[in-house]
Amino acid sequence: MNGFSAYFGRQRPAATDPQLAPPAAPFVPPSPPSPLGPLGVVATPPPAQVPVAEPEVADLEAGDRLGPTGRPLPHLPIPPPLDKHGPAKVIALCNQKGGVGKTTTTISLGAALAELGRRVLLVDFDPQGSLSVGLGLNPHEIGLSVYNLLLERDVVLEDVICKTNIAGMDLAPSNIDLSAAEVQLVQEVAREQALSRVLAPAIADYDVVLIDCQPSLGLLTINALTAADGVIVPLECEYFALRGVALLKDTIEKVGERLNPRLEILGLLGTMFDGRTLHSREVLKTLVDGWGDDVFHTVIRRTVKFSDSTVAGEPITTYAPASPGAQAYRQLALEVLARCHAA
Ligand code: ADP
Ligand code: MG
Repeated sequence: MNGFSAYFGRQRPAATDPQLAPPAAPFVPPSPPSPLGPLGVVATPPPAQVPVAEPEVADLEAGDRLGPTGRPLPHLPIPPPLDKHGPAKVIALCNQKGGVGKTTTTISLGAALAELGRRVLLVDFDPQGSLSVGLGLNPHEIGLSVYNLLLERDVVLEDVICKTNIAGMDLAPSNIDLSAAEVQLVQEVAREQALSRVLAPAIADYDVVLIDCQPSLGLLTINALTAADGVIVPLECEYFALRGVALLKDTIEKVGERLNPRLEILGLLGTMFDGRTLHSREVLKTLVDGWGDDVFHTVIRRTVKFSDSTVAGEPITTYAPASPGAQAYRQLALEVLARCHAA
């Protein structure tokens, strides 16, 4: 019995309709392209110049170019700068499989959102503490962590938050202590709402809160889903990656029905994509066939730069700012903002 079944009791069969309601904010209509330049996800080179009055890239219909998911690429506008911050959109990065890119996406998307002037809080909600380590923290030197925040009534969010080297991006760190929280929370009143309650003060100060979940569907993940407005599901572009998605969708729906009616799937993100292999392309096609526009247009390619940046303890957007990986996460940040009504 996995964590999910243990938590909710007997599992009902996955919903027959693989398609969820489309995200609340569909893509905006074509508008001038990003000044960020060619993005890593655009598989084809810029189209040849055509003899029109204004031979700008802006005039080239995005719909003419197919992205790696086989759908026409949308134009994503750069959202205007914010003159004040909050209320935050809370997004859980969730997949019960490990090694699919949850932590990498949390760091890289967070940094890309901060580049766009958003105030971002990253919440390490995995006892492995990879998010904290990936941002250069020594897990043994973390003072107060999310564990203390969840279980000690005199600890508040402010006591736990640390600054990162990225301007505008803060971190609520975790280490192995958090593994005890799963057991201890069981005895608490409103055990599913514990994270939501302690994160409440962040909503006014930040624009986006990203929660990096552990690879399970146990009580910690249920807490993350209860605290969240949206879920991003990173999926490795491998055949077996698709197998757990129906169960995850079922969990998200149950949390939506019973605990958190705000919750929606913001998008499924293909990661570790290798465009040279037919296998990777087929997996992506299967994903789009089943989930349609719930699949992000942005796809993250497989590159060793991500492991290198983890070793360096910084996001890819600063470690290798011009790399296709960094550009892809900038594109994802635009897509996420468009789906969140430019939070
Ligand atoms: P999760 O949090 O889902 O367990 P991680 O983000 O920790 O997954 O990624 C697992 C491993 O894969 C890490 O070593 C990370 O550096 C690497 N990785 C993540 N994304 C990519 C990618 N697009 N290409 C290559 N390696 C990646
Ligand atoms: Mg992780």
